[in-house]
Amino acid sequence: MSYVITPPQAASVPVVGRSERFPIHRIYCVGRNYEEHAKEMGFTGREPPFFFLKPADAAVPVNAGETGTMAYPSLTSNLHHEIELVVAIGTGGRNILAADAHMHIYGYAVGLDMTRRDLQGDMKKQGRPWCIGKAFDQSAPIGPITPVAQAGDVVNAEIYLQVNGKDRQRSNVSKLIWNIGETIEHLSAAWELQPGDLIFTGTPEGVAAVVRGDMLTGSVSGLGTLQVKIA
Ligand code: MN
Repeated sequence: MSYVITPPQAASVPVVGRSERFPIHRIYCVGRNYEEHAKEMGFTGREPPFFFLKPADAAVPVNAGETGTMAYPSLTSNLHHEIELVVAIGTGGRNILAADAHMHIYGYAVGLDMTRRDLQGDMKKQGRPWCIGKAFDQSAPIGPITPVAQAGDVVNAEIYLQVNGKDRQRSNVSKLIWNIGETIEHLSAAWELQPGDLIFTGTPEGVAAVVRGDMLTGSVSGLGTLQVKIA
C-alpha cells in the first residue's frame, strides 16, 4: 500500500508487564455515570447512558512510574479534570449482552477525561455538539492498561484524583449508575465495538479547574497511579 501523504502513526497505550502496546481504535466516553457527579452538573435520576467520542490521537499515554505532560489547551479558562476507569476492548462485537461483556474486555486503565468546561457549557446551552469541549488535542491522558487477570476487583475499586497532593475526587467504581457490563451492552447496540476501543466510564463528583503547573495524581485501586503535569 502506498499513500499520497505519510499516514499518521497509530495511537497506542503501554500494557503492564508487556513490551507490546495496545493500539487505540476509538475512544468512547460515557456522560454523567455517577449520581453525585450528575447532581453537581445539575441533573438527577437515572437516565439512559449517553456517549461521546474523543479522537484516538487525543490520548496522552503515560508509562508506569512516569509523569505525563498535557499542554494547557487553547480557548479555555476553565479546564476541568475528570478521573475515570477506562475499559479496554480486546474482542469486538455488536449487541453484546451485559452478562457477556466480560468476554470482550482486555483490561483496564486509569484515564482523565479532560474537559474545556466553559466551551462545553456554551455548546450545551446552544444545543450544539460537545466536540470542542471534550475532544480536543491531548484531552485523554491515560496510564498503562492492566490485563483483566491482574486487575483485581475493579468493580469495587476505589477511584480518586488529587491535585498538588490534595483530594479533589474520591469515590468507588461500585457507584457507577450504569456498570461496565450495562455500558458495553448499550454502547455495542449503537456501534460495533472493535478490538482497540477504549471506554471512559464516567467520573465521580468533585470535578474542578486546574491551571498551568498543577500536578494531577489519579488512581483506581489495582490499576496503578496516573500522574500528569499541566504545562
Ligand atoms: Mn467524563
